[in-house]
Amino acid sequence: MHRELEPQIPAASAGNENATRPEVVILGGGIAGLSVGYHLSQSKYGSFRIYEAQDQVGGLARSFNWHDADCDIAPHRLFSQNKALLKTLLSLVECNKIPRRSKIVLDGKWINDPISILELLRVNFPFRSLRLMMSYLTARLSIKRPFGNFDDFAKASYGHELNELFFKPYAEKLLGLESRQIAAAWGKRKLRVSGFRDIIRKNTKLYFKYFYYPKAGGYGAFARALGKPIKHNIETQHSLEKIVYRASEKIYECQFRNRQGDTVTTRSPALVSTLPLSTLLNLLGHSIEFHYRKLRLVYLHVNRDRVMDEQWVYFIDKSNIINRVSEFKNFYPRQSQTKKRSTILCAEITSDPDCSASAVVEELQRMKIIKAVDVLDTKRIDIANAYPIYDTHYERKLAEANEILKQYPDLFLLGRQAEFSHQDIDEIFDSAQQMAARYLKVLAQ
Ligand SMILES: Cc1cc2nc3c(=O)[nH]c(=O)nc-3n(C[C@H](O)[C@H](O)[C@H](O)COP(=O)(O)OP(=O)(O)OC[C@H]3O[C@@H](n4cnc5c(N)ncnc54)[C@H](O)[C@@H]3O)c2cc1C
Repeated sequence: MHRELEPQIPAASAGNENATRPEVVILGGGIAGLSVGYHLSQSKYGSFRIYEAQDQVGGLARSFNWHDADCDIAPHRLFSQNKALLKTLLSLVECNKIPRRSKIVLDGKWINDPISILELLRVNFPFRSLRLMMSYLTARLSIKRPFGNFDDFAKASYGHELNELFFKPYAEKLLGLESRQIAAAWGKRKLRVSGFRDIIRKNTKLYFKYFYYPKAGGYGAFARALGKPIKHNIETQHSLEKIVYRASEKIYECQFRNRQGDTVTTRSPALVSTLPLSTLLNLLGHSIEFHYRKLRLVYLHVNRDRVMDEQWVYFIDKSNIINRVSEFKNFYPRQSQTKKRSTILCAEITSDPDCSASAVVEELQRMKIIKAVDVLDTKRIDIANAYPIYDTHYERKLAEANEILKQYPDLFLLGRQAEFSHQDIDEIFDSAQQMAARYLKVLAQ
């Protein structure tokens, strides 16, 4: 069955406030889609509708309840150096300010996260620490040039030894490529440190001492807070299947499959896409493949009051299948916690997307974090598009995609998947605000 939605009326004449405003169609109800909708809704000119494939909004930043505990799609935390932005986000959701407690397991040794260079030298004393220092000094004294790949970037910024020990194994494990196949830009974006000086000064986004986390409902509370005031503008279980751009009318026709299996068509003069970039290009009839890394999340319900002191622990070594393990209880102040005699862990795995829950349990038992007999239940969630993979061709492909998209007026891309850019929710919320403001300014003229 095919249902046609009312065609939208293009731009209202200036000064006529009662005229119908063109409706923006927003593709995807993750943080990016919700943030644009939220910002558009703050203005009388902002008319929009969000279409989301799943039965709930939130995308990667949603939460769910399991064994009476709020769990995130891999643990999330809020930290931003932009004070005004932080204030706005904290006005949406009541949060606790939580001191960060995290560790790194590196070369089998437990060290503090973020890395302290003094500690690194101490645990590797004497031979390796000498090599670490020497290779760092050599790197700093050598001539710098633009870096083509992550391996060159990390070696030049941190020295050969620290690259081999830390950056290279973790990057390769996370992205599934050799570090020479990873673009230098990924290092700059993800590591957010440019050298030892920053490690020592601890003045980057990586070195936050505390973070914000919702008092209730998990990190998904942000998506719920953004979605609540605009709930009447959201259609869930509407999966986009086709986009046709009618150039003569400057109209986008989008075809969705809804929960009943019917086709729903919208016509709009403007589109905001938060879908993966390859998906959007394919739907428009172009084909440029951008690669995203799959992530398997294994949740464990453990019959213990608490198993770690940390919120999260990173496993850098390639011999570990787990990238990071987190304990959700530790994202709340201890005094606010219930006396519940069980806890939930979440392990993140990229190197083996088919990894079984029992392999995770075995590894955590080997690391002396849990005992297998204490595991009451397990649950797996797979994320197809967890990490945009910045391979050494991605900048060229991004330029090609931008060139193609120039022929589509009023088509905006926003978010982690759509912009193919490693972003947190504070950055997306900020970009959404700017995008909505620009769009509303044009409409108001
Ligand atoms: C492991 C991990 C840890 C992270 N940790 C943090 C953290 O600590 N702090 C932080 O702030 N951020 C963190 N992030 C990042 C954060 O989750 C993302 O930046 C953010 O959620 C991305 O939002 P988005 O709307 O751009 O994309 P998404 O959340 O992917 O939303 C896109 C939406 O589009 C929908 N969609 C897809 N295809 C279709 C279709 N055909 N039709 C209709 N709808 C469709 C999807 O269902 C989805 O809801 C983390 C991410 C990961 C993977």
